[in-house]
Amino acid sequence: MDFSKNYDIAVVGAGIAGVAAAVQAAREGKKVVLIEKTIFPGGLATTGLVYVYLPICDGNGRQVSFGITEELLKLSIKYGPGNIPEHWKDNVNASEPARYRCIFSPAAYILALDEYLRENQVDVWYDTLVCDTEVENDRMTAVFVENESGRGKINAKCFVDASGTAILARRANIPCHTATNFLAWWEIRHDSRVEHSDLGAPVRLNMGGIPWDESKAPEGTLFRGISGKSVTEFVTRGRQKILEYYKEQYSDTVTRENFYSLNLPAMPQFRKIYSIDARYVLRDNENNKHFPDSIGLAPDWRKSGPVWEIPYDSLIPTSGPKGFIAAGRCTGADGDAWEVTRVIPVAGMTGQVAGLAASMAIDAGISPSELDVQTLQAKLRTLGFPLYLPEVGLEYDK
Ligand SMILES: Cc1cc2nc3c(=O)[nH]c(=O)nc-3n(C[C@H](O)[C@H](O)[C@H](O)COP(=O)(O)OP(=O)(O)OC[C@H]3O[C@@H](n4cnc5c(N)ncnc54)[C@H](O)[C@@H]3O)c2cc1C
Repeated sequence: MDFSKNYDIAVVGAGIAGVAAAVQAAREGKKVVLIEKTIFPGGLATTGLVYVYLPICDGNGRQVSFGITEELLKLSIKYGPGNIPEHWKDNVNASEPARYRCIFSPAAYILALDEYLRENQVDVWYDTLVCDTEVENDRMTAVFVENESGRGKINAKCFVDASGTAILARRANIPCHTATNFLAWWEIRHDSRVEHSDLGAPVRLNMGGIPWDESKAPEGTLFRGISGKSVTEFVTRGRQKILEYYKEQYSDTVTRENFYSLNLPAMPQFRKIYSIDARYVLRDNENNKHFPDSIGLAPDWRKSGPVWEIPYDSLIPTSGPKGFIAAGRCTGADGDAWEVTRVIPVAGMTGQVAGLAASMAIDAGISPSELDVQTLQAKLRTLGFPLYLPEVGLEYDK
């Protein structure tokens, strides 16, 4: 090893979940390192050019998600374009159904997130790849990383897997599962003919993809993203589609000077790669259902009405070493539930909870898997989290 460092908590992946986990753990007084293989915070939300912070309300005028998730929503538009609906500016419960969401510039968000991490005294390591884990006596004790300083070991008392791909879990032989992805291609485009756009004319986001019906997908358009070859094919075929489009469009009036690609995603647009086999895997139709171990509420971004209680057990794997907790899109959810939990606001929520749970577990000398959920819930309430549907005026239907 070229170097070795000690922390209380190591968070792997500086996506939205990782940022939220690291900030919450730092606020609990823990010495935190946030390890990121790219040079940007935000993950898919920034590096992946995803630019819609989906709603934190139920679509019927009730805010359901709070805490760092709301801080991160406001931060996304702090230094760039985008707005939240007028009525949500002052009210927890707005008088109109316009959803509490916003559109943001990925680059402006990166600048704001860097500042946020600085202000919260998180030790960030960019350009650092987590390659492996050390497990001793049934406990995760370190991660091995590689960066320009060489190969090093980061020791910690607890680890948060916010990698989006459950890399930490897989390296520690924690059981995980995969899902199918459809070919997609995204870019930010310069188009001099655009007068108004969410990102500020003449720039706009352009996205394309194969229709989401697995039975009708043309051959070669389904990807799992679980091998180097599959990732390379997925990204190069997407970029090829974009190039073909420009070639078709160029004419006497549409030229490369006024119509071209301005920015491309620097991480693959896979919605799901791996997620953990959790002690509880949320599944279809489990919205508006009571979970005694709920750690917060998540709305359905696709339609108004359904709200999900998120069980703490969806962050904890069925087996594997102690000292580990998952956050963000690699937590346990499938099908419809996964559509709801994989998005930016819910990643922020599970991230904050994972950072808090890791801190509380360290204080108690135990693992997040052994934490008393009621003690965690009591602390979450002090942070302004509603935990059960009736607390925001909603009812159970299951
Ligand atoms: C095409 C597409 C469109 C989407 N549209 C929307 C949308 O409009 N609105 C919305 O809210 N959500 C949307 N989503 C979902 C959402 O963007 C993501 O699910 C969410 O941002 C995931 O956050 P995360 O923090 O869990 O993971 P990620 O964003 O994946 O972050 C994980 C981070 O970990 C890092 N990492 C991974 N492995 C390592 C390693 N070995 N070492 C160090 N670092 C590592 C990665 O570089 C990355 O920065 C979309 C997703 C896709 C794919």
